[in-house]
Amino acid sequence: MKRSVCIVLFCVFLILPLFFACRVSQPEIAEATPVPTEAIQADDTVQSVIVPTPMETPALPTVPPTPTPTPEPTEIPVTDPVITLIGGDTVQVEADFGFSDPGYFADDYLGNNLTSRMTVSGEVIPYKVGTYDITYSVTDDDGRSTTVVRHVEVIPVEMPQIVMPPEKTVYLTFDDGPSAYTEKLLDVLKKHNAKATFFIIGNKGRTDIIKRAYEEGHAIGVHTYTHEYKDIYKNEQAFFNDFWATQEVIKEATGSYTRIFRFPGGSANTASRRNKGIMTRLTKIMEDLGYRYFDWNVSSGDASGESYTSSDVKNRVVGGIKKHSDFAIVLQHDIHYQSVKAVDSILTWGEENGYTFLALDLTSPIMHSEVQN
Ligand SMILES: [Zn+2]
Repeated sequence: MKRSVCIVLFCVFLILPLFFACRVSQPEIAEATPVPTEAIQADDTVQSVIVPTPMETPALPTVPPTPTPTPEPTEIPVTDPVITLIGGDTVQVEADFGFSDPGYFADDYLGNNLTSRMTVSGEVIPYKVGTYDITYSVTDDDGRSTTVVRHVEVIPVEMPQIVMPPEKTVYLTFDDGPSAYTEKLLDVLKKHNAKATFFIIGNKGRTDIIKRAYEEGHAIGVHTYTHEYKDIYKNEQAFFNDFWATQEVIKEATGSYTRIFRFPGGSANTASRRNKGIMTRLTKIMEDLGYRYFDWNVSSGDASGESYTSSDVKNRVVGGIKKHSDFAIVLQHDIHYQSVKAVDSILTWGEENGYTFLALDLTSPIMHSEVQN
């Protein structure tokens, strides 16, 4: 009896569990991640327990892999070179003595910079109001070309509005100085608290006098640098050169350029006739550039042989002022002694008769003679 109990117990507790253990664990082993051989050999327990007959994994239906599309190489579209105009294809600039292109660049379709091989043609006359075309072209390595055009509009410089002065306003103007008499003239003007305008000659080398006149409230304008008609009116560029030489003298004396001037001989001069039409052109150009020229409506006659004495000068000036009671722009020259000497009595007469003596500026009334050339 004891022996049979032992056999039964043996069967129940050892053989049956082993049997079920094999049956149950087999699928798990089949699905398990393969264990490295060394690991199995190193673990005696596993080696002794797992003695499985490898079971065939049932073949799963194969799903064909979705084919991954091979990426097409990105094609850069081939195009003509592209020209970029900085500032756009239409630019507006105020009249000036020079023009500088706002800039440009060019690229080919691969992004290579072609700016250095661009060609630019066309001319802008910067001081002449009008519309000009500039053409920009470029060709890439494969011979593809692009051409674009920029329109440049040169417009007049805007000028301040003219303000008509009260009646009985007089603008005394003195050309061709400074001279040995100019300082005396400044003293007289100061004594009467009168202001005047000096259209100066640049090559006189007396910036100290120009400076004093400016600091005492008088206007300084360009007259000329050399006063040589044949040189100044040779062509536009010659006039500009002379004009700017004078401007530099004025800037040295006063710290700034002026915008008022008087043509040597006035705008109606005939001394410029060897260059046909130059006064017609220059009078327009200079106004478009933002400079205002002043002629006169009263002449003292001090330079034309009509006034030899200071009395002559005074009589002519006073007579002229009376005829222009709205405003008078008086021509004198501070290089002539009799003219400078007459100023004291002219100012005294003006004070007694209610006249005001002012300096010219861009808002002053314009007095332009009829151009003869
Ligand atoms: Zn002059």
